[in-house]
Amino acid sequence: MTNEFIVESGGFTFVVPKNHNFKFELLEGQQIIDVAIWSKDNPKKEFLSMGHSLWKNGRFISLGSYLWSDYKKRRVIAKCVDETWFESSNEGWYHHLLQGYCDDEENQGRGSCKTNFLNSIKEFGLGVEHLNDNTINLFEKVMVSGGRNLLFSADSDATKGDQITFQSYIDLLISVSLCPTIHNKTETDSNYNLETKDPDYHYDFIDRVNSIKISVNPNKLPYQVYE
Ligand SMILES: [Zn+2]
Repeated sequence: MTNEFIVESGGFTFVVPKNHNFKFELLEGQQIIDVAIWSKDNPKKEFLSMGHSLWKNGRFISLGSYLWSDYKKRRVIAKCVDETWFESSNEGWYHHLLQGYCDDEENQGRGSCKTNFLNSIKEFGLGVEHLNDNTINLFEKVMVSGGRNLLFSADSDATKGDQITFQSYIDLLISVSLCPTIHNKTETDSNYNLETKDPDYHYDFIDRVNSIKISVNPNKLPYQVYE
């Protein structure tokens, strides 16, 4: 199956058959993309396991990273097979990671990835009870800092034409959200608020989101089973 989708705003859900490559490409400029992943055949039971993927893969996603599900049998459901190389990676910055999604309350009614997901998975019979932290975030700029191993974020390096590509290991259902926020540039090495004991995850809002292209193509490379 070959498919191409342009997403200009909100959320969008699509199917990727097993052993296909699916690519997310920035068409206009930097844009945080939240991506939720389910098994197409059994989305209510099997989906990306953030917990197990953290355990096996670590928090950051880059070339060679595996994403796992955790149902009757834990298995690899996708692998990162290509990505734009960022110079800042040499300094320890990461650009893609296992992370949740913003919601309406914290965005004060300005829309959110959660709402974008929910709007776009409705037609596949899924609702809020099927969003299980089964998400990754793409095109950010983060590193781990400080004794609590919390994330330190900076203005993203990503720009028009940057891409990241995954290979599917099973039939997948994938929802993307163009995030209406951008992470604040932080000037210290801590985004943890000692007064409130809460991580200080303040966001800036962007005037308009930048559109992306999603390409789905059969994988022509040999199928490499995870070992
Ligand atoms: Zn968001």
